[in-house]
Amino acid sequence: MPETFSGRCHCGAFSYESDSELIAPHYCHCGDCRRLYGALGAGFVVLEAQTRIRGEYRSYTSQADSGNRKTHLFCGQCGSPIGERVDAFPGTLVLVPGTLDDPSLFKPEAHFWTSKKAPWQVIADGLEQLEGQPVT
Ligand SMILES: [Zn+2]
Ligand SMILES: [Zn+2]
Repeated sequence: MPETFSGRCHCGAFSYESDSELIAPHYCHCGDCRRLYGALGAGFVVLEAQTRIRGEYRSYTSQADSGNRKTHLFCGQCGSPIGERVDAFPGTLVLVPGTLDDPSLFKPEAHFWTSKKAPWQVIADGLEQLEGQPVT
């Protein structure tokens, strides 16, 4: 069984605990992530049934570069991005690794959407680079 891990927003009004695996840990260079996170995005997937959310968050929906409809979650008080729900993948939640209480749990495996990468973003870590994402 995977260990329980936890995370929170900057101000602490929103937090979570999860017993899920950290699935598909990745960086994302899509245009949505560039606007949302200021440069590139990063995320990992958890099973929502194994994840307990506490506190208040706000959300909005958008159409992603992948064509997926996404609901973006962020703290209702400090505005920190928390993650997203993707309509195409019910029962899962994408979490932002910056929320992790133990940042060492995030072990990125690949770069997604390098076809949308900003020209000033240099990738030099030797990880796999995908022009899109593995599943849409
Ligand atoms: Zn907050
Ligand atoms: Zn993205």
